[in-house]
Parts: sequence; C-alpha cells; structure tokens
Amino acid sequence: MTSSRLALLAFISVLIAAFFIFDLQSYLTLEALKTQRESIETYRSNHPVMTIAIYALTYIAVTGLSLPGAAILTLAGGAVFGLLWGTLIVSFASTIGATLAFLAARFLFRDAVKSRFGERLQAIDAGVAKEGALYLFTLRLVPVFPFFVINLMMGLTNLKTQTFYWVSQIGMLAGTLVYVNAGTQLGQLESLSGILSPGLIGSFVLLGIFPLIANKFVEAIQANKVYAQWPKPTRFDNNIVVIGGGSGGLVTSYIAAAVKAKVTLIEKHKMGGDCLNTGCVPSKALIRSAKLLSHIKRAGDFGIKKADAEFDFADVMERVQSIIKAVEPHDSVQRYSDLGVEVVEGEAKILSPWEVQVTTAGETRTITTRSVVIAAGARPFVPSIPGVEEVGYLTSDNIWALRELPKRLVVLGGGPIGCELAQSFARFGSKVTQVEMAPRLLIREDSDVSEIVMAKFRQEGIDVLVEHTAKKFIIENGEKILIAEHQGQDVRIPFDQVLLAIGRIANTQGYGLEQLGVELSPRRTVAVNDFQQTNYPNIFACGDVSGPFQFTHTAAHQAWYAAVNALFGGFKKFKTDYSVIPWATFIDPEVARVGLNEQDAKEQNIAYEVSTYQLDDLDRAIADGEAHGFVKVLTQPGKDRILGVTIVGEHAGDLLAEFVLAMKHNIGLNKLLGTIHIYPTMAEANKYVAGVWKRNHAPEGLLRWVGRFHDWRRG
Ligand SMILES: Cc1cc2nc3c(=O)[nH]c(=O)nc-3n(C[C@H](O)[C@H](O)[C@H](O)COP(=O)(O)OP(=O)(O)OC[C@H]3O[C@@H](n4cnc5c(N)ncnc54)[C@H](O)[C@@H]3O)c2cc1C
Repeated sequence: MTSSRLALLAFISVLIAAFFIFDLQSYLTLEALKTQRESIETYRSNHPVMTIAIYALTYIAVTGLSLPGAAILTLAGGAVFGLLWGTLIVSFASTIGATLAFLAARFLFRDAVKSRFGERLQAIDAGVAKEGALYLFTLRLVPVFPFFVINLMMGLTNLKTQTFYWVSQIGMLAGTLVYVNAGTQLGQLESLSGILSPGLIGSFVLLGIFPLIANKFVEAIQANKVYAQWPKPTRFDNNIVVIGGGSGGLVTSYIAAAVKAKVTLIEKHKMGGDCLNTGCVPSKALIRSAKLLSHIKRAGDFGIKKADAEFDFADVMERVQSIIKAVEPHDSVQRYSDLGVEVVEGEAKILSPWEVQVTTAGETRTITTRSVVIAAGARPFVPSIPGVEEVGYLTSDNIWALRELPKRLVVLGGGPIGCELAQSFARFGSKVTQVEMAPRLLIREDSDVSEIVMAKFRQEGIDVLVEHTAKKFIIENGEKILIAEHQGQDVRIPFDQVLLAIGRIANTQGYGLEQLGVELSPRRTVAVNDFQQTNYPNIFACGDVSGPFQFTHTAAHQAWYAAVNALFGGFKKFKTDYSVIPWATFIDPEVARVGLNEQDAKEQNIAYEVSTYQLDDLDRAIADGEAHGFVKVLTQPGKDRILGVTIVGEHAGDLLAEFVLAMKHNIGLNKLLGTIHIYPTMAEANKYVAGVWKRNHAPEGLLRWVGRFHDWRRG
C-alpha cells in the first residue's frame, strides 16, 4: 500500500475509533434526539445557517465514515428543519457522504482487489459499465440493502463517480422523504422499526425492482422491433437452417439432428470448410512431411552417419490431398445425411429472419425455419498494399494447389498460420523470408516463447525480419520485390512467391446479412451476445464468422451453444463458456497455451506466480533428442489455482490437455503432483512443473522444526 493510502487509512481509522471510544453513538439514538430536541430547536432559531452547516457536516461525516446513526440523523433533519428543508439538506448531505465513502473505498482498495481478483472484477466491471446505474438505482431504492455496504462495494467497481452521485441522490430520495417526514412527527415516534412498516418496505421493493423489470421489458421490445417489417410464417419447414458446412456448421447440425430437430445444412463449396480443405488438415499433413525432412537433416543427432531424402514437392502436395481425402468421410454429405441432417450443396441467402433461400445447380427454393445458425467462416485477409495484385499472391486458400516449390518465398505475417507455413516451406528447401511488423513472431505469446521460436527459425535458415512493415510490391526487370520499411529505411526483399498470412476476415457479405441489418462487431465479425444470438434473437452465429477465437475447436464449442439455444432457448438459454480456451501453433517446437500468459496477466493487472520447468531436464525429451522448451504455469499467488499454462516443446499441444482438464475442473497443481505419470514420457513434465510450484511453496519454518525432530531422534 502506498504511503498516501496508508495515511488516509490511518486517518479514517482514528476517526472511527474516536467515535466509539468517546461513545458518540449515544447521541445518535431516538431517546437522545427527543430529549435534546428543545435545546437544538432554540439553537436553530438563534443560528439557522450555523445549524444547517453543523448538521450537514455531521451527516456527511457519519455517512462518509460508514458510521451507524444515519437513520437518526435523518429523523433529526425532519424534526429540526421540517419536511421540505429537511429532505433537501439530508438528500445532499447523504449523497455527498456516500460519494466520499465510495471514493475512499476506491482509492484505498480498488487496486488491491484488481490485482487479486482481476479476472472476476473485469466481468463485474463489464456488467457495471453496461447496467451499473440501473442496479445502483435498484439497490438505493430498496431499503433492505445497507447503504454503507453499497457505497463501499460500488467504490471497488469502475462505476463513474458522477453516475454514482446522481443515481444515489435520486435513488435515495424516496427513503429520505419517508424518514424526514417521520422526523417531523418525532413526538409520536416510539421506535425506528415503526417507520418502515412491512407494507412500506414491500412498496419500496416493488419500486426497486420495477426498473429491472422495465429494462427487461424494453429489451424484449427492442429485440422484437427488428422483426417488425418481416411477416412471420404461421408454420415452419424446419427447426434450424445452418449456413456453412465447416466445423461450426457441422457440429450445429449434428447436435440438432441428435435431438431430433429438423435441420438443413447448406454448404456452397466443400463440406468440412476451411479446416478440412485449406486449414488444419492440409497444414498438419504438410508439417508432418516437413518434419520428417528436418529429422533426416539432423540424422547425426540420432547417431546416423548419413541419411538423404530425395523428394518431389509435387508428391508431398499430393500426399496432402490424399490426407484430405482420407479425412473427408468424417465431414461428408453421406455421413451427415445418415445422421439425419438434410444436406444441401448450394448457396444460402437469408431472405427474412425465418426464410433461407438455397440455390443449387438445379433449383432455387426457400426454406422457412424457426431459427438460423450462421457458420459461414472466414477467409484470408488481403491487404491493399500497392502492387499486390500485380505480383500475384498465395494465401492459405490457394497455396495447396502449388506443385512447384517456390525458390524464394516471402511470408507476410508472423502469426500462427504464417509461422507454420514458413517453417514447412523452409524445411522443403525454399529460401524463406518472414516479414512481420511487430517486434517479434507470435506476438500474442510471451516474449520468451517468441525468442525460442525465432532462434529456431533462424537456425533453420529462415530470414526472420521483425519490425518490417510491407510498403509496396514492385516488379523490376521481371523480378518481384517487396519493399518493406524498417526503422525509417526501405528494405528490398526479392522473391518468387509471396504468401499473405496477416489475418482472416469474416464472411459477412453477399448472403442477406446486409439486407436484414444483422449487426457486425467492430472486428467486422457477426456480433453475437453471450448466447451466440445476433440482434435477431432467432438468428445465431458461431465459428470464425463470429469469433472471437478462430479455431476448429472453438467453432465446435460455440456450435453447441448455438444449436442448444436455437432449439431450446425459449425454455433455458446457456451462456457460452470461454473460461478455459486452449490453442496450439504446430511449429517446431510446438507452442501451446491455455488461459493467461504473463503478458495477458500484466495487461489485465492480475497478480500471478510463475513456476517453470525446463524440458532439457526431462529424461524422455533428452532420449528423443528434443531437450528444449519449457512448461510455464501461472498460479494465483499463495493459492493452488492455475491461471494459465504455456508449453513450448515437442508435443506441446498434447501435453497441454492435462492442464486444460485441470483448469476446467478446478484441479490444482497439488493433485497433478499426486497423480502417477508414466515414465519416461513427455507428460512427466506436467508433474515436474507441479513439483517446482510445490517446492516454491514448501513450509520452510515447519520443515526446520521437522529437521530438529529428526536430529533429536538420532540422539
Ligand atoms: C492454414 C490454416 C491452418 C489452421 N490450423 C488450425 C489448427 O491447427 N487448429 C485449429 O483449431 N484451427 C486451425 N485453423 C482454423 C480453422 O480452420 C477454423 O477456425 C475453422 O475452420 C472455422 O470453422 P467455421 O465452421 O467457422 O468456418 P469454415 O470452416 O470456414 O466453414 C465455413 C463454410 O461456410 C460456407 N459458406 C459460406 N457462406 C455460405 C453461403 N452463403 N452458403 C453456403 N455456404 C456458405 C463456406 O463455403 C465454408 O465451407 C487453421 C486455419 C488455416 C487457414
């Protein structure tokens, strides 16, 4: 705690202590008020302004310090100043006092609470930012919630001070009026409890929850407003129509069919979407061949004198296609038809919230449906860099058609897709230059991760150019050149092919979203709420088209919520759970993460402890000739709660699964440590990192005593 905070805390503590030590509380009782009433009255008629000042300051001090007695003071306000002036003075004094308490709580404790409960506080802050004024108003109106608790708790959130002030003043007015009015009849008042009859409390509660109910009502009207211009069919052909047969759409359809809903899945290109045809599957197949070559190159490391690989790049790319073919049946029309899904190979267009038009080679028809799930995916982003169209470019969509290895390949982008493909092509023999404008590759990961990856890439011959911004492409004497800017200087990078891997953009155009006015997020994805609903409550979206994550497993995860909420949301809706999201980048060494890393924790002001286990110590990693990388676990300080894990090394993605399970089910490192792991496996690293954490938390004091006990036992 800073010295200014300590000083304020000490000052407040002294004032509160003085209040109790000098028994000032005894002046704030009904009896004391009644007996002092005449002398107060006399003083007031001689010094009216002074009386108001003393009264208001006392009120502000009592509420500002969260001391008991505000109710009596309010009665006194009525007794001394009458209904009008009493209400006015109390209203301002109580709000000023409450705001001081609010500010003091914020100044003294918000930072500490933020660093300890950052993640949870963020969610609360988000709620407060959205509906804080409404909730505060309700709390103020309902006199069952102690005001001093409200002041202090609100101080810990990010509610704006001016919002707190005016909402408090208006919200407390009704209660103030009741108490001040009671004060005007002080003579007849026997106890404080008499002021608030059960009937009056009931009325307040109703008043208090009215804004909440009204808010929900307005929400419902707003939600229905979007439907105003669209006539609703009296009956529907379908329960769900799903647009897009990628990971998101397939899982949505699967779930719908499994619960016996009538579902039509419309795919305009290839079943399986990006993941099967141009994403995860081909890239992992390519990575496998490239890895084999890297092992052959490292033959000496494994005690093999000489090993050569003779290959034709076209064969490698044909193998990639054969792997796609092998996986294809999992996502095929046949399989999904057998599961009970009506699969239509055609282009979908949403005509109204309840009508989807589908155009196939032979016909155009319209399906009426209770709900629609948009799972239309994303495509590579092509930046408008001058000259890009003239030089021609590769993306993750068309790179799979290559049959000739580019001699010099520029990879624009240092994210996961750029890294996976840059390393693979370099391993096949392309002279790869990777260009990234950020200061390092894999910028979302911690800098120690990027360092390992960049060192490995450079060691494998990739020219990694960070802090290089692509400015333009030119063709000079038939040679393609990228001009990039680095520290104010132009850098010329000649190449034969360029791969654009600088992000993906959601498919939101050309199938009716514009006409309906389906809202987009600032990231140009389809905007959805916590239930995967768009601004049309019966139109849902999942996967890359809605984000925020762009992985196959997150598309499938969201698809469950989209399907269940679309089919059963009228009875119960489920919020998409983003609490534990893992991912991996399949480079060598693999990089896998779940939850927070250090840079996230710092950005979000979340306190953490780090336990790291280096894989060069692990028997299996040594035996495999893969003794590099680490397992890094972030935990809550002093607690056995995992906040996040990053693994860099062989099979990192597989190793991470244990931590994903642990985080999902609140299993701590102690339990991981107490679990048998097979020797010798890479998975033992998970146990060893738990051991590092345990050692860092060893009860040193107790162990010293145990040592003395053993000394004593030896005599
Ligand atoms: C090179 C690369 C490697 C990747 N590697 C991984 C990885 O290792 N692990 C991982 O988890 N993720 C990976 N991804 C990401 C993953 O592929 C996507 O997150 C995932 O495919 C998203 O699924 P989706 O269903 O949202 O969209 P998609 O798979 O893109 O499916 C959308 C489908 O909708 C169809 N469609 C669009 N509009 C219409 C319309 N109007 N009518 C009918 N059909 C329509 C499209 O034709 C498409 O088939 C990778 C991506 C790339 C590009």
